[in-house]
Amino acid sequence: MILRHHRLLNLHMLSTPPLAPSFAAVSFRRPLSLAAHTRPGTGSPPSSPHPVKPSSAPNVAGADLVRTALFVPPGVAREEVTPGMLLPGSNIVVGPYAGHAQIKQVEFVKSSARARDCPKDNRPEFAILGRSNVGKSSLINALVRKKEFALTSKKPGKTQLINHFLVNKSWYIVDLPGYGFANASQSARTDWSSFTKGYFLNRDTLVAVLLLVDASIPPQQIDLDCASWLGRNNIGMTFVFTKCDKIKGGRGKRSDDNIKHFQDLISKYYKEPPPWIMTSSVTGLGRDELLLHMSQLRNYWDNDEVV
Ligand code: GDP
Repeated sequence: MILRHHRLLNLHMLSTPPLAPSFAAVSFRRPLSLAAHTRPGTGSPPSSPHPVKPSSAPNVAGADLVRTALFVPPGVAREEVTPGMLLPGSNIVVGPYAGHAQIKQVEFVKSSARARDCPKDNRPEFAILGRSNVGKSSLINALVRKKEFALTSKKPGKTQLINHFLVNKSWYIVDLPGYGFANASQSARTDWSSFTKGYFLNRDTLVAVLLLVDASIPPQQIDLDCASWLGRNNIGMTFVFTKCDKIKGGRGKRSDDNIKHFQDLISKYYKEPPPWIMTSSVTGLGRDELLLHMSQLRNYWDNDEVV
């Protein structure tokens, strides 16, 4: 029998009460059976299902940000971490579950108007979420290396749909409607909220949310609110900073500064830091690294055991 139960792991609860109610920052969902195969004391699996593939991507400005605040994945003990295990431009440590990161094939499967209409084949999925104009479509197109693949409607008031893209016939990228349209009516905002919250709260196959944050502008309250809501509901998330190629001159702030500021604001809420990574859909910065990170979350989640 294939065990398909999942439980939340690695809940980094708040150490002290923050401005918002307590919530967990990062969670992994995984089959219960994996626990029986974990070596006591190390947190490591008996053998790596996928070899670690350290990234060969060049180091980037900002990679030194918050080096001490690392995201350490399952299978790695914090004290075992060496600098070579860190993905450039991120706080993410690569562990033994990383592998099979490249996208060889992708196909659009369906658009769903409700969470219960989404595919029911139990494949793991990553939801991509962010404020309108954050660069979500560009990032999806960059990930799958196709132009204009992400076809989500960008206009407020249009039908809100959950779009499933099947990757390598084994896992999904899920394009969710953007939030925070400048001109959206209150009813459109409420619609977004109930619609998308229903998806997050009911989707057992959701491995993690990639919450996109525009690094070319200062932190936006709506992004902080979104992160807070996801955290309070124990939805695992990775912060994906977009537009990191944009470095403003004059009085404008660099993307590094905006990222640091965002992290400072977020850090109050977490005992341990959630994963974050810098990307640019223009230069390709962070693409391979993000895929590698997704592979370790996915492989951990997807490690079915016959019991
Ligand atoms: P969406 O509304 O979140 O799907 O955002 P889009 O992908 O349509 O991008 C919004 C705008 O930001 C467009 O003008 C894009 O060309 C621009 N954009 C998206 N990603 C990047 C990026 O990585 N770097 C820069 N410089 N611009 C970007």
